[in-house]
Amino acid sequence: MSHLDFDIVSDLDIRISDLCYINSTNSYVRIYKQIMQNKPNLRNDKMNITLDMTSKYTILSCLAGPKNKANSKPIKPKTNPIQSQFNPKQTQLKPIQTQNKPNLAKGRNMNENSTPRPASVKLSETMSNDLKDKTLNELEQIIAGLGQKKYLAEYIFQFIHAEDVTDILKITPLSKAFREQLIKNDYHISQLNILNKLTDKDGTIKYVFGLDDGNRIETVLLLDGKRRTLCVSTQAGCKMGCEFCATGRIKFRRSLSAGEIVDQIYSVQKDAGKISNIVYMGMGEPLENYDAVVKSVQILNNPAGRNIGIRHITVSTCGLAPAIKKLAYEEIRPRLAISLNAPTDELRTRLMPINKKYPIAKLLDVVRIYQLKAKERVTFEYVMIKGINDSLLHAGQLVKLLRTVKCNVNLIEYNPHGGCKYKGSGMEKISRFAEVIEEAGIENTIRLKKGSSICAACGQLGANLNNVSSTGDSVRHE
Ligand code: SF4
Repeated sequence: MSHLDFDIVSDLDIRISDLCYINSTNSYVRIYKQIMQNKPNLRNDKMNITLDMTSKYTILSCLAGPKNKANSKPIKPKTNPIQSQFNPKQTQLKPIQTQNKPNLAKGRNMNENSTPRPASVKLSETMSNDLKDKTLNELEQIIAGLGQKKYLAEYIFQFIHAEDVTDILKITPLSKAFREQLIKNDYHISQLNILNKLTDKDGTIKYVFGLDDGNRIETVLLLDGKRRTLCVSTQAGCKMGCEFCATGRIKFRRSLSAGEIVDQIYSVQKDAGKISNIVYMGMGEPLENYDAVVKSVQILNNPAGRNIGIRHITVSTCGLAPAIKKLAYEEIRPRLAISLNAPTDELRTRLMPINKKYPIAKLLDVVRIYQLKAKERVTFEYVMIKGINDSLLHAGQLVKLLRTVKCNVNLIEYNPHGGCKYKGSGMEKISRFAEVIEEAGIENTIRLKKGSSICAACGQLGANLNNVSSTGDSVRHE
């Protein structure tokens, strides 16, 4: 018997499983224990349960909170519907049919005890008490708020981000009473589930992660000698709609928390060993999820945690000019990559709608500001699409554009994916293009195609997640 077998039936038609998703496992456990103390006859579809004040508060605050009604349709009892007035003192519970359980596929690392949340629940509601999502400063504030000594925050940060601990009770330098206090206050440490892992013959590994709310993201590990680069996602889906990108075709679901971003790195490291470089180049536009991305970089770079050097972290953007400028003034600045893909506004707007808002000249202005602050070479990504942006004329236009910018150009052959009309340029064309920009003195690298057979190459992420249902549950697995 699991908690998913219950359904609160009231005139407000809300599921206890929904309530438990919105809050933490601990809230669920508290409510569940009370249900069991009432010794309900589970074959009987009616029972009256008296809940404590905290649980009532939990329920009431969930009812008051924003809910996407379309995605959280109440489960109506087939027989004997109970339509009482909702009364916080007395809540009627009913076992629900098995087919009403959330359809979440279990992967190899799926945590059996995890409580998946419905996709309709807002991130802020579900992640606010996730200790993995906090910087060291934020942890200090939380701890001070609980009346404890601030220095204890460092233990928590270290255990989560350096030791991979996902159970508060295992942070043993804290007193047992304090650990219990954290749990009682609904704090927890989130953990991504690996739902699928695919390996290309070239060694590239793609991970499909399940988020707490049923959404899915993909993360790719690229191997190149000693260089082990992890390409992380920052959003489930993407709003930017770039023509050539599979992710842009997926319905945008939500932005990830900093905890979910860093956990992609921790989960892959646990599975595949040390990672040397992190690139924010997976699903989603990182700078559209600015706060979480900056926070995740701070967490990864913190010496008390994973201590990943800032020069080993690259954030790639399609060109959100104001956010690039803002990033230039942050205390820690990762390397910057711009997904350029066209040398003229006309072509770039065709391929990347964001260019209409922030045209190339504006983009290069903020890139120069970033360079001035970061004192680092900026990388321009240029996806080579057959017959679209790969002619020698385009190469000449690119040279004119970038001549005055200290940069490196990455030439990446376009990777086709189902439903997309474009084709890759082929190595011959890419080499000739590279020669032109090389002769002009612009550093460039031809990126070898990696992971294309498992849809893990650039622009292919999410190609197999197109079947995400409105609830985010029914994703086809490769
Ligand atoms: S290329 Fe990047 S910004 Fe554009 S749609 Fe794909 S994920 Fe979004």
